[in-house]
Amino acid sequence: MLRLLSLYGVSNIRNFLVGFLANLLARLSDLVPPFLLGVAIDSIILQDKPFSIPFLSNSTLPQYPISQFWLVVFLIVSSFVLSAILHWFRNWGWNSFSQNIQHAIRVDTYAHLQNLNMGFFDRKHKGELMSILSNDVNRLEIFLNDGFNSIFRLAAMVLGIAILLFYMNPALAVVSLFTIPIIAFFTYNFTKSIQPKYARVRDSVGKLHSRLNQNLNAIQLIKLYNTESYESSRVEKTSLDYYNANWDSITTRIKFFPSLQVISGIGFTMTFLVGGFWVISGDILWISPRPLYAGEFVTFMLLHQQLVWPMTQFGQVINIYQRARASTVRIFGLIDETNLLPEKPNASELVVDSGKIIYQNVSFGYSRDKILSDISFKVGKGESLAIVGHSGSGKSTLLRLLLRLYDIDHGSITIDGNDVRDLSLKSLRDQIGYVGQDIFLFHGTVRENIQYGSFTATEEEIIQSSKAAESHDFIMNLPSGYDTIVGERGIKLSGGQRQRIAIARALLKDPPIFIFDESTSDVDTPTESLILDFIKTHNSEKTILSIAHRLSTIQDSTNILVLQEGAIIEYGTSEELLHKKGLYFDLWNSRNI
Ligand code: ADP
Repeated sequence: MLRLLSLYGVSNIRNFLVGFLANLLARLSDLVPPFLLGVAIDSIILQDKPFSIPFLSNSTLPQYPISQFWLVVFLIVSSFVLSAILHWFRNWGWNSFSQNIQHAIRVDTYAHLQNLNMGFFDRKHKGELMSILSNDVNRLEIFLNDGFNSIFRLAAMVLGIAILLFYMNPALAVVSLFTIPIIAFFTYNFTKSIQPKYARVRDSVGKLHSRLNQNLNAIQLIKLYNTESYESSRVEKTSLDYYNANWDSITTRIKFFPSLQVISGIGFTMTFLVGGFWVISGDILWISPRPLYAGEFVTFMLLHQQLVWPMTQFGQVINIYQRARASTVRIFGLIDETNLLPEKPNASELVVDSGKIIYQNVSFGYSRDKILSDISFKVGKGESLAIVGHSGSGKSTLLRLLLRLYDIDHGSITIDGNDVRDLSLKSLRDQIGYVGQDIFLFHGTVRENIQYGSFTATEEEIIQSSKAAESHDFIMNLPSGYDTIVGERGIKLSGGQRQRIAIARALLKDPPIFIFDESTSDVDTPTESLILDFIKTHNSEKTILSIAHRLSTIQDSTNILVLQEGAIIEYGTSEELLHKKGLYFDLWNSRNI
């Protein structure tokens, strides 16, 4: 929490000070009406005391009761108005302090998150990350708004009243304040036991979000496989874990507050007992420094009562603090996540010239299992390399390594002689147009999706690349053409249409290197040929790497690399490989294009 405040609170110190000072002044101005009420009763109505108001000299005060009465009315109204203004400032200060911090932390955490290694995202549930970015960040609001504000207010009240009690009667003050260390001890124990419980609550709410997120994404699958009741019970179980974690913290919490009240009550009774005896008998045990008057005793008891209330409020503040602390731990857990692909401080910018890509003895595994071993090949400008193999043989992985979504374990991958690990990630990915199997379209218009990443492209360029990707005609037939909303993940389009939009997006980017990973698998064969022909004829200066299911589409590739269980077993032109009668030959026949 200290880290949070030092990182984000300092830059918002102005808002904090406004809130803090306005809060203090508002409390003072709230005391004015009851005080003036007393003055009005004693000096104007009963006329027991001469009319006087602190901070105003008697000579400036009116002489006649009716004028005095109007002055009091005016001062009461003024104090209400002042108090309203101060409350506005207080709320502005605290709320802007809290909102600014939340906004900054949300943006920073997200920015850090998207720079993390893909391996991190393979391990983490998206719903859980969402839960941290939204729920946990929002949870800070309660603490930053109310909790933080109350800490200062209550500390000032307790300290102020304690000083006043000691000033009035030190001996009785000792009796009435003896409960404070006991309350401190209880609070310490509460804090210790509630901390892990709140951590569990935050953890289980993250899991619940993850489950709900997965299920809502898989809603069609659930319906098709009639697994509604199975999924309902899975959600019920996760929700029950959350319920239990919550209930566990609630039982601890609801025991704590009444016990604070009991301790405070004991303090009150002790003060009443000791003070009462003192007033009645003149002394009590060995404490009899001076007589205690009844009026004094009543004031003392009233003040003590005012002390009890903030003491019990402290428990509430500690509770809010602990909840926010559990959220802060989760947020900083993300910020401290160092699963980054290191970018060298002097990373160079890739400018592709010869477009020569060389894989040299590359080995790689996502975790311990080796997926690719000892892969070496070359491909240059104007050439195309197709990768063929059974599903799971490592084809996609091989191409993802060029984009440096993961780092290789051994060997090297170079582009124009630059090791990809020495290049800035931005420049590397700028030079590669990638269309994968898993097409992602954002909820937005067709145009926005094609333009994604090439935000300055003109309308003409967008239409040109759509035409090249055989998309223009079907787009024009959509209800609003390029302005048609594609729905979440492009749900309103067919698989083939989504793929063609993704190809248009890559063509619009117009990079020197293209990677097509089964990017036309859902497109019908004649359309696929048109697209590939276009790419071939218009991109004779590019380096193209592709994976295709239909081998007819890659038979003209400069070279074909056949992978089996992560190793290259054949390499050459389609013709050479067909002659060899190896795996490529078998695949060619079995796929029966
Ligand atoms: P292909 O493209 O040839 O079908 P992939 O490259 O997709 O094969 O996968 C190769 C192997 O790597 C498979 O055994 C797959 O289970 C594994 N794999 C793929 N992606 C990941 C990942 N993100 N984390 C762990 N293992 C993965």
